[in-house]
This record gives sequence, structure tokens and C-alpha cells, in this order.
Amino acid sequence: MSNDPNGNNCSKVGPIGKAHLDLDACLTSERIICDRCAVTCPEEVKAITMRGRRPVLDPQRCIGCGLCVLYCEADPKALEVVPLGAK
Ligand code: SF4
Ligand code: SF4
Repeated sequence: MSNDPNGNNCSKVGPIGKAHLDLDACLTSERIICDRCAVTCPEEVKAITMRGRRPVLDPQRCIGCGLCVLYCEADPKALEVVPLGAK
């Protein structure tokens, strides 16, 4: 269990943002095979899964880590982490 400098239990702090997936910008919209986001989303949460050949994002499971954005192969990115309350 990890605590911040004030002694608060960090494991009880929720995400500060959630991933947003723009399927129109996703390479799979151009019939290009890609599953990088689903592969890189942490095993413990698996907020992105592949349905057929397309990624599906479950925002409820997302912890906002940003790995999917980092590894998204679309240019511009099809994923972003949006701060909670921003959208
Ligand atoms: S931000 Fe992290 S937890 Fe959320 S969908 Fe992307 S990789 Fe998964
Ligand atoms: S990594 Fe990016 S381009 Fe690839 S499937 Fe995921 S959202 Fe689409």
C-alpha cells in the first residue's frame, strides 16, 4: 500500500482522466489491422478490447494511464486521455 507525502492512501485515489477513443481516426476505419491499444492497456483493467477487428473502450474500466495514447499507431492519434469533467 503506498501513501502520498500527506499520508493519504494513494490506492484509494481514482483516475484523474479517462481515455477517449475516436473510431473515425482509428486505423481500423481504413481497414488497417491494428490492436496496439488493446495489447498495451494494462492486464488488470483491460479497458480496451477488440471486438472483431475494432477496438472497444470501456470507460468504466479505464484508469487513465495513457499507455494506449502513447502506443496508438494512428497519426493523428485516435486516443486521448481527457481530464475528468472536461467532456
Ligand atoms: S488510458 Fe490506460 S487504462 Fe485507459 S484505456 Fe488507455 S491504456 Fe487502458
Ligand atoms: S492503437 Fe490506435 S489505430 Fe490502433 S486500433 Fe488502437 S485506436 Fe486504432
